[in-house]
Amino acid sequence: MTSDNIALLYPVFFGIWILLTLLSAGFLFFNKNAALKRRIWPAFVISIGVLFLAFTAARGTPPQSLLVIAPVIALITFLNLRLIKFCDSCGATLTRQSRSAKSASCPKCGAAL
Ligand SMILES: [Zn+2]
Repeated sequence: MTSDNIALLYPVFFGIWILLTLLSAGFLFFNKNAALKRRIWPAFVISIGVLFLAFTAARGTPPQSLLVIAPVIALITFLNLRLIKFCDSCGATLTRQSRSAKSASCPKCGAAL
């Protein structure tokens, strides 16, 4: 890829990134359907990881660097899938920070998780 093409790639990538961030934040924090969130969340998080890896490869990152970056992206994807939960009672999106370590209940509605 030429440097001109790479220069064009950045605004496209960041535009897509901002759009996905706004859409996912809106969906996760305003939608109260926990079952729907559980269905969509894994595909979304994996797609984001693939998009980020594809962008990194497209900008000319050496293959040996991709061998380090890909596992890091996989780890972040795994942690996003593992640490974000959805309350069945109120549909809240619960991050690790919004749940206490010992509490097994939703901080928004008090339902058991
Ligand atoms: Zn709740």
